[in-house]
Amino acid sequence: MVTRRSGRIAQVSERQPLYPFTALVGQEPMRLALVLNAIDPAIGGVLIRGEKGTAKSTAVRALARLLPELEVVADCPYHCPPSGDGRCAACQRRAAGGEPLPVARRRMRVVELPINASEDRVVGTIDLEAAIQSGQRRFEPGVLAEANRQILYVDEVNLLDDHLVDVLLDAAAMGVNIIEREGISEWHPARFILVGTMNPEEGELRPQLLDRFGLCVDVTGIRDVAERVEIVCRRERFEADPQGFAEGYAASEAAEADRIERAIAQLGRVAVDRPVLELIAQLGIRLEVDGHRADLVARRAAQAVAALRGLPRAGVAEVAAVAPMVLAHRVRTGPGQRPRDIATVVAQLAGGD
Ligand SMILES: [Zn+2]
Repeated sequence: MVTRRSGRIAQVSERQPLYPFTALVGQEPMRLALVLNAIDPAIGGVLIRGEKGTAKSTAVRALARLLPELEVVADCPYHCPPSGDGRCAACQRRAAGGEPLPVARRRMRVVELPINASEDRVVGTIDLEAAIQSGQRRFEPGVLAEANRQILYVDEVNLLDDHLVDVLLDAAAMGVNIIEREGISEWHPARFILVGTMNPEEGELRPQLLDRFGLCVDVTGIRDVAERVEIVCRRERFEADPQGFAEGYAASEAAEADRIERAIAQLGRVAVDRPVLELIAQLGIRLEVDGHRADLVARRAAQAVAALRGLPRAGVAEVAAVAPMVLAHRVRTGPGQRPRDIATVVAQLAGGD
């Protein structure tokens, strides 16, 4: 009875049916970049650049619904996994003390970083007075705590304070949020899929920050007449009858969720052979990419594509599929220079040119 009841509560809070992921029209690179991060969060997130009204936030929310449910420690503010790594100090202590941890299953959430959020709101706060007076640590968790094991969605990341972007990217890279105030420190796991959006017309992101997003896709309004018409028709049908519309996509949604779940399970077994690694390295050299982050991300992303395609190893086709999103924000273009066509360079290198 308890489960039925809690199920009903969940339904009430999610009464507004979401637009289905598989009903989205076009924007394939954006959808692929999101799915790849869901398969392997170590890819390091995705930056979506583009004008407003290109379904960025709809796509992220729709994706979250497709991801496998998480097993969590029910009363932990960081939704720690009940076993294995990535648990907070308290959960580790409880488990070591033999306490059975209460387990719950939760759907993955999209945690939105409020615009104008203060650093305290993001990283959390230590109550210094309580610490000094009673020697007790009192930590008020912030957005990074909420985002652990979830998707952290940062709209207009280019308008955030550089320092805050740094904090976010540090936590994303380390999987941990460390807070230090007056010699008192706290930490908690902060593993999340970072999705940032920006409209380049409203300001750029520093190149050092750009490079720390695993993938980057540029979205533009769709220029194909038939696709544009289809977008409008589907929107109208969805708005007229959200429930019925969602039901019409239930089978394709289930198939996509299944494909992602199988890819997650298979990821660790996907091989990347040396010639493919060499292709990735040559690509970085040919396009004059600084550092080695691009190579690491390209390998992971190609592996995730192979897993999605049900392949035992990542090959040239998988590298070609991810190269534009791995390199879009890492290839420098001087003023008046045209961005180099990454797909062409991949084709040349793969052809032994
Ligand atoms: Zn915990």
